[in-house]
Amino acid sequence: MRSRAAEDLAIRMLARGARDKLVQCHTQLSAYVVRDIRNSEFGNQPAKSGPLPSTDDSNGSLVLRMHRSLFAVLYRRVGGGEIDTKINIEHVIDTYDIYLALAEPPIAVTFDEAWVIARELRGRRMELVRCAVCAVDYLSGDSSPTTNLCPYCWCSERKPAMGLGHRSRGGRSQ
Ligand SMILES: [Zn+2]
Repeated sequence: MRSRAAEDLAIRMLARGARDKLVQCHTQLSAYVVRDIRNSEFGNQPAKSGPLPSTDDSNGSLVLRMHRSLFAVLYRRVGGGEIDTKINIEHVIDTYDIYLALAEPPIAVTFDEAWVIARELRGRRMELVRCAVCAVDYLSGDSSPTTNLCPYCWCSERKPAMGLGHRSRGGRSQ
């Protein structure tokens, strides 16, 4: 089925750089139709393939972690409590646009990565925690010890104090 609404959503996702698989997932359009829309609307923009980006950022830069946190905070503002239980693709798109408007270039979070953050928040594999030192919310995950540390403090002179979020799992020494 190739409804106008599905095509419109596909175009809006592709315009933000979404990979075809994600577009298929949210529009129920076939791979062929998505490719067709991409080719007709965006010329020879190459399709993205391979696995979705990972949020396991034990090697990720602090700037990247700040960008991810910015997206996550905005997404919670837009999506409210719903973000715990579902991925609302309209909210992901709206939030991504706000993120693009606010973030300092270079833009660190791709649309695919923004979607993965939304998925991880829904699955509670990542969460927003408030830093006990600077009181700013940041995205925290279980995947590596460093993602449980506040990137804003880590970057600043407060580094020696190293705020751990309120909901961080205890016991780890620094
Ligand atoms: Zn902090």
